[in-house]
Amino acid sequence: MTHVWNGSYGRGGKLNKEFCAASVTSPGVWSSHQCSRKVAVQEEGHGWCRQHAPSAQKKRDEAREAKYQAEQRENNARWAKQAAFANVAQIAIDHFDQKASFDDLEAAVAKYRELKEKHRNEV
Ligand SMILES: [Zn+2]
Repeated sequence: MTHVWNGSYGRGGKLNKEFCAASVTSPGVWSSHQCSRKVAVQEEGHGWCRQHAPSAQKKRDEAREAKYQAEQRENNARWAKQAAFANVAQIAIDHFDQKASFDDLEAAVAKYRELKEKHRNEV
């Protein structure tokens, strides 16, 4: 989200309309100041440089969000696969101890294979 510069400490300083309206901070500087780049785009009632234009900011936010969602899907798929694999091992042990049937083991293996195949196709 791009903030419009409104003066040092938010006291309502005068916005220089020749320059980008974004409020920015510099490394090591505590207070914010108006962006020093020339106006390139007019949007939402203010002039902006190409970096701080709300539409450009939105595009970057959306790209970041899409990347995050893709990573989440990948992690979830990997976790589901690992959990299914652990389940196969547990049911194999239970089967060995005669606490689970061969059908249970077969179902667990089928579930694991299904997730493994699905994961392979998604990545
Ligand atoms: Zn700017």
